[in-house]
Amino acid sequence: MTQTRKSRLPMEKKPDFQLSFEFFPPKTQKAEERFWNSLEKLIPLDPEFVSVTYGAGGSTRERTLRMVSRISSETGIDAAAHLTCVGASREQVDEVVRGYYDAGVRRIVAIRGDPVEGVGEKFIPHPDGYASSVDLVAGIRQIADFDVSVAAYPEMHPESSSWDEEMDNLKRKRDAGASRALTQMFFDNNDYWRFMERVEKANVGMPVVPGIQPIHNFERISAFARKCGAKVPLWLAQRFEGLENDPGTHALVAASVAGEQVSELMDGGVRQFHFFTMNHASQVMALARILGAGS
Ligand code: FAD
Repeated sequence: MTQTRKSRLPMEKKPDFQLSFEFFPPKTQKAEERFWNSLEKLIPLDPEFVSVTYGAGGSTRERTLRMVSRISSETGIDAAAHLTCVGASREQVDEVVRGYYDAGVRRIVAIRGDPVEGVGEKFIPHPDGYASSVDLVAGIRQIADFDVSVAAYPEMHPESSSWDEEMDNLKRKRDAGASRALTQMFFDNNDYWRFMERVEKANVGMPVVPGIQPIHNFERISAFARKCGAKVPLWLAQRFEGLENDPGTHALVAASVAGEQVSELMDGGVRQFHFFTMNHASQVMALARILGAGS
């Protein structure tokens, strides 16, 4: 692919090309088969790590542990376990961290989690729990030398009242021991570029890897995006309009939308991508090829 644009990131921030893939822990036997099939297809892309999410309020605790343990022991790929501190005491969270360590997992994606009542509700920490992701990162790093990733929000976290607050929180996560941030999904790359300018200006000093959400199902992804505070641009909605019962065209449009997004980011100097796979491989494989990997 020819580089048509001037890099929008400083040269020293450009590592070698790296991919990571996010999965969620499957609920049924059939879903578990899809999980492993998809993972198997993505392994040849040599990801830096594969992460497995943690259900709201710890609802997938055992399943997340089981999946990351197996990835770690059976595939040779680094597994990263997500962990939240919602509705759990420090003791309970620390026990999960030690369980990950004992299972050979050395990477954690440390996330506060959303209030049990739902996104947008006021977050009330457990009385004996970690109060925020900053506290959680510090707690994890006290237990062992984990590689810790945290979350970042190109469109600002819905609970933040200003960009200064947002940047301060990101810097506190870094100071507590995080090595990188993975962003929330976004569909307008200008939001990422503007965010990265703020990150530079605030001297955040750790990589902020764009989280790319391929659109497997526009209705579902857009509802989820809105819930997380990520906007769904009108042009995007228009591209999928009327395709509810046309899965073939829907898939082609989705591939072209995500292809444009990653190409533009790559042309702007991005070399690390975190893909929200939704446990499906094909779109991610196509995107990796567009980026020049896996072909
Ligand atoms: P925090 O960094 O703690 O920040 C949340 C808000 O609180 C910010 O607005 C911040 O400015 C504010 N804040 C922080 N500290 C203070 C303070 N002391 N006083 C006042 N305000 C403060 N959710 C899951 O349940 N499971 C997952 O596996 C999961 N994985 C995710 C992966 C990625 C890449 C991303 C981007 C999100 C993920 N989430 C997951 C969603 C996440 O739980 C929500 O976005 C949540 O609302 C915030 O988590 P956080 O770690 O960013 O919170």
